[in-house]
Amino acid sequence: MTLQVTVLGSTGSIGVNTLDVIARHPDRYRVFALSANSRVDELLAQCLRFAPRYAVMADPAQARLLAARLKDAGSATAVVDTPDALEQIAAHPEVDAVMAAIVGAAGLRPSLAAARAGKRLMLANKEALVVGGQLFMDAVEQGGATLLPIDSEHSAIFQCLPEDPATWPERVDHIVLTASGGPFRTRDPATLAAVTPQQACNHPNFAMGRKISIDSATMMNKALEVIEARWLFGLPPDKIRVVIHPQQIIHSMVQFNDASMLAQLGTPDMRVPIACGLAWPERIASGAPALDFAALGALTFEEADAHRFPGLHLSWQALRAPEGTTTVLNAANEIAVAGFLDGAIRFDQIHRVNDSLLGQVQPNGVDSIEALLALDGEVRVRAHALIQELRA
Ligand code: NAD
Ligand code: MG
Repeated sequence: MTLQVTVLGSTGSIGVNTLDVIARHPDRYRVFALSANSRVDELLAQCLRFAPRYAVMADPAQARLLAARLKDAGSATAVVDTPDALEQIAAHPEVDAVMAAIVGAAGLRPSLAAARAGKRLMLANKEALVVGGQLFMDAVEQGGATLLPIDSEHSAIFQCLPEDPATWPERVDHIVLTASGGPFRTRDPATLAAVTPQQACNHPNFAMGRKISIDSATMMNKALEVIEARWLFGLPPDKIRVVIHPQQIIHSMVQFNDASMLAQLGTPDMRVPIACGLAWPERIASGAPALDFAALGALTFEEADAHRFPGLHLSWQALRAPEGTTTVLNAANEIAVAGFLDGAIRFDQIHRVNDSLLGQVQPNGVDSIEALLALDGEVRVRAHALIQELRA
């Protein structure tokens, strides 16, 4: 059977890797729809190559340009430009699988639409889960969707856990998420105030989007992943641990009650978890090279230094606070990262913004996705105001 796939965020790092895996298996997958924010040239090239039924461009002016250029090229791909276009291509009745690879809370609504429509939902967009929390997981269950983690650590945990989630509480002692430590793992923390966006985006093992690259440098990426793991696997926060493993060969591990530990290993290449999500429980070629242990040498591990990475611990703090607090953390962080990339604040001030907003906004009784999105909007306004103050 050929699966019809929608790729949300197809021009990004995860989107491009997804299309690379799909292109290796034309008999198994057909691209139904593609979406991007504003890069017309890239989305046009993808449409001409994969001939999707629909394309969505979030920016309206760029959407018109894309439509004109597709027409000139004789393409049959239709540009959908309604306000709910992303939700439509995610929940379309002919779609079997959705790759959620938009960055940030902007991906929440379309990911949720795929969940409610019962799709095979391959979730790279961790922020959607950090914002949506239990309500997102409820939508997955009610919609009958199959949720497959694409974040490499969560794909690793998913592959190591027993198939039946009902057995996890009595079998699993804790999980360990591995972290690279990013580009500043060994840098003198006193010099972090002076680092530039370009230095912070220079990840040792991966070429990724700018937002997740900055999150890796602050280790806020791991903080978001702790929250992501809490919802994906229904684990209490104290059963989720983090260790730095700079080589990124072990993608994460599960410690069982008998002190046996299972780990998932592989080359650090996002096509591996993407192929796993596309084919699960089957296994297909991903294009990534296999591990060569003799060439690898040593695998090393170290504790994350709380002084260098103060943001990491905000995840456990937010998870122990009332529901909605992880939404506050995510929104603050998105604005802080954008502020750093724009040169409005220093690298070390990202944590200052996140920590201040957690202190300023204490949600209670948030009981709908609409309420979470309103909270997200409120925090963004406050975070912008704080950045203006810091700038002055
Ligand atoms: P990216 O910046 O490279 O790509 C983001 C994609 O989303 C692009 O196609 C962009 O056009 C689209 N987009 C951005 N803002 C949008 C908006 N407001 N509306 C609609 N579309 C929008 O990011 P990425 O590195 O591919 O990461 C995507 C997601 O996957 C993130 O949530 C990230 O945390 C997660 N992730 C990425 C990696 C990685 O290796 N890159 C690994 C694990 C998880
Ligand atoms: Mg990850």
